[in-house]
Amino acid sequence: MEGRVADWIRPEIRALSAYHVQDASGLIKLDAMENPYTWPEDLRREWLERLHSLDVNRYPDPQARKLAQELRSAMQVPRDMALLLGNGSDEIIQMLALAVSAPGRSILSVEPGFVMYRMIATWCGMDYVGVPLREDDFSLDMPALLQAIREHQPALVFLAFPNNPTGNLFAEADMLAVLEAAPCLVVVDEAYAPFAESSFMSRLGQHDNLLVMRTVSKLGLAGLRLGLLAGPSAWLEEIDKVRMPYNINVLTQATARFALKHHQALDEQTAAIRRDRQVLFEALQAMDGMVPYPSQANFILVRTPAGKAVPLFEALLKDGVLVKKLHGSHPLLEDCLRITVGRPEENARLLEITRRFVDHG
Ligand code: PMP
Repeated sequence: MEGRVADWIRPEIRALSAYHVQDASGLIKLDAMENPYTWPEDLRREWLERLHSLDVNRYPDPQARKLAQELRSAMQVPRDMALLLGNGSDEIIQMLALAVSAPGRSILSVEPGFVMYRMIATWCGMDYVGVPLREDDFSLDMPALLQAIREHQPALVFLAFPNNPTGNLFAEADMLAVLEAAPCLVVVDEAYAPFAESSFMSRLGQHDNLLVMRTVSKLGLAGLRLGLLAGPSAWLEEIDKVRMPYNINVLTQATARFALKHHQALDEQTAAIRRDRQVLFEALQAMDGMVPYPSQANFILVRTPAGKAVPLFEALLKDGVLVKKLHGSHPLLEDCLRITVGRPEENARLLEITRRFVDHG
């Protein structure tokens, strides 16, 4: 059996480790950029009534037309741009890669960055080029990036804006220079848009190779798995051909529409998260040797004193708080942890354990 597996599963797939999600049962979960708030009881009841009226014996609307219309207005998609929905933005990354993949073609992004760009490139038989960010502030290293674009002539460029796991926005002038230089589509991944001060959405149409990707995951609907891609219809009509039929299920369509109708509740939650991000940032900054990086997302990247990231991660875990351990995942993330902004009492617990660790080792 082992031999046959080795014969048939492609070597680059065998070399991968499956996307690992740590079990968080019973823990304060500050590892996955989720919105920590649930819905108030009255909203929950109204939602259940809405679900009660659904039929699941029929396939969903294949284009999710009503939902798409509502997403357009919620996310301010320019009127003349097309829209494509995915089962999470992860599925959209996969559709994009499938549509352009061919032997010898590559996907280019920056490092440290969102791991799925590389992973999906590998699934689709493409090469992956990761250009390191600048060490001091995680900004784009423009000479290196432009050189890599010239050299590799990628088939797809992804730039996350803000970037995961660093939390920063890249300089818009640098992004525009990438749009100019890239021979291919440049996808600006705005997963963290609800927490950021800037967006490329209104620039759609000004560059014929610009697409903007969003998700509802970070704004409080991660369980639905719904992402969207906006851009010129000439591109999106082609990418739509590799979309699984009925990829947005009945429950997701109805629930997302319900949530968008009650977007005020979500808006209040994201505003609270932005405020609490500042509180968390300042508290971490005040601790001896801890260096949090400014964030435009719902998480904070923090560098601990040398050799302390893993022991702090373990101390937090022992006391019931799960964060993301980044130390060891990339040379620029030495001694780093990524902390998702949680509810005030969750952040306070994290700070209490961290303060004790910093004071007593
Ligand atoms: N893009 C970025 C930059 C992300 O960090 C994530 C999630 N961690 C995603 C896309 C995927 O989001 P989803 O599939 O939940 O829409």
